Amino acid sequence: MAKISVDKDLCIGCGSCIALDADTFDFGDDGLAEAKNNEVTEATKEAASSCPTDAITIEEEN
Ligand code: SF4
Repeated sequence: MAKISVDKDLCIGCGSCIALDADTFDFGDDGLAEAKNNEVTEATKEAASSCPTDAITIEEEN
């Protein structure tokens, strides 16, 4: 089970992660991104690596 998290201190609300992986990311009421689940797909990894502020962390646990 992995854990996907968004550091809201770093997120600037650009929406890139949501454009790349809407199954995982959405805007919260504060206008910043949130992870809706912990299912890591290729799109999730692409979203994390494309985040301009490196706000997304994927912790892989085996
Ligand atoms: S790509 Fe990064 S900065 Fe942009 S909304 Fe997503 S978490 Fe926030």
